[in-house]
Amino acid sequence: MFHAGINKKAGEEFLGQADKLEEACGVFGIYGSEKDVARLTHYALYALQHRGQESAGVAVSDGQGIKVHKGRGLVADVFSDRVLTDLTGHMAIGHVQYSTMGSGLAVNSQPLVCQYLKGNLAIAHNGNLINAQELKEKLAADGSVFQSTLDVEIMVNLIARYGQGLLEEALLKAMRDIQGSYALVVMTEDKLIGVRDPYGNRPLCLGKMDNAYLLASESCALDVLGAEFIRDVAPGEIVVIDQAGLHSRRFLPSVERALCVFEFIYFARPDSNIDGINVMEARRAMGRELAKESPVKADIVLPVPDSGIAGALGYAEALNLFFDMGLMKNRYIGRTFIRPEQNERNLAVRLKLNPVTKLVVGKKVAVVDDSIVRGTTSKKIVKTLRNRGAAEVHLLITSPPVIAPCYYGIDTSERAQLIAAQKSPAEIREYIGADSLSYLSIEGLYRALQQETGFCTACLNEEYSLGIPPEEKLGKHCSEISSRQRKEAR
Ligand code: SF4
Repeated sequence: MFHAGINKKAGEEFLGQADKLEEACGVFGIYGSEKDVARLTHYALYALQHRGQESAGVAVSDGQGIKVHKGRGLVADVFSDRVLTDLTGHMAIGHVQYSTMGSGLAVNSQPLVCQYLKGNLAIAHNGNLINAQELKEKLAADGSVFQSTLDVEIMVNLIARYGQGLLEEALLKAMRDIQGSYALVVMTEDKLIGVRDPYGNRPLCLGKMDNAYLLASESCALDVLGAEFIRDVAPGEIVVIDQAGLHSRRFLPSVERALCVFEFIYFARPDSNIDGINVMEARRAMGRELAKESPVKADIVLPVPDSGIAGALGYAEALNLFFDMGLMKNRYIGRTFIRPEQNERNLAVRLKLNPVTKLVVGKKVAVVDDSIVRGTTSKKIVKTLRNRGAAEVHLLITSPPVIAPCYYGIDTSERAQLIAAQKSPAEIREYIGADSLSYLSIEGLYRALQQETGFCTACLNEEYSLGIPPEEKLGKHCSEISSRQRKEAR
């Protein structure tokens, strides 16, 4: 499953997406507001739009039943004023989704709404189950029928199976069966539940606005609504919000936290705080650490917008170098497709990112980006800068090389397409055509985050704390890069 820029069916390049790891989803929930909860949820989804652009949905409960509206596209495409006016209630959940496996189909949009023994249920998920296949086969053998390829449908089936008592009890039992990463928001006619997996791999936070409680993948969604951030939902915690207020319990013994480190490198919005770390500050610190490890005598530091901006600021300030926005990003590309012919490919990069020639001509340029996945975009940027007269182009990456796939809900592309799984940093530099290429070391990353433990770094070092799907054999995918070559990146 690879979506970073290629629409395979059409054979066309999709300009709206970068050569990046892609976040899979964002979730939101609100309980007890006297305001228009559907509208508030859709505003929150705007704030979480960076976590998924393929589909969006909102489910609302009025205490009697659950209504849902969802569809493919951006939040602005899916919700009209009329649709929102029809979604009345006192609680809601919402979801934005990036197209992971099969989710391009309308049936795979979330929230998923269904009926079980005790009534209606709506559920939305961010993450990925590593034992999904096994569970699905077991459930299907027992007569369950599946309409989608969503992991969350497996959870719904488990909840239905255990659904004789309280919903939270059914959820607790279901959570004992599932393995992998998840941040969930679940809603019935009278309660809202938030769940974070025992490793805390996916973020989820809790907020308050007047008498209403809110749950969100990122704190920026609370900020835009003017809500107060209360705290992050703890790994392995289930929070239940109902008429009696907020209750919380741990559902599985705690394990060492493994929060996705890429939330800080690239996914999350810089104005979000996750588990006590501000994303903007973390990215800036990554730039400063990279400056300590790999100082370059450059005339100018340019970020690859937008994700390289904070790192480039940190890099430039640490070395007292001139910083400027020398690469202009076209923010209106949207769903533009280009044909695969070479002349259109060359045009594509200029359409997406165009250098300010005056800033780069004759200069030693340090270009800062957060990560390299396939390397194709970096190669194009370097070539374009040279064509515009840059004397030297040095590429600085504020993360370690991405050498392995993610099984926890992030679209990293297949190992064969990860350039750092196939080539050494020296080979990558040569492929990209830069005068130098430097990555931040994993130690530098930890220094920037001011914590050495508590993060999932599996795509950077193949330490899969949450396990891998049984159908995947790590040996089968062994990266071709030797440990000696990897050390070159440090
Ligand atoms: S493997 Fe990488 S992208 Fe996936 S959860 Fe871990 S750090 Fe995040």
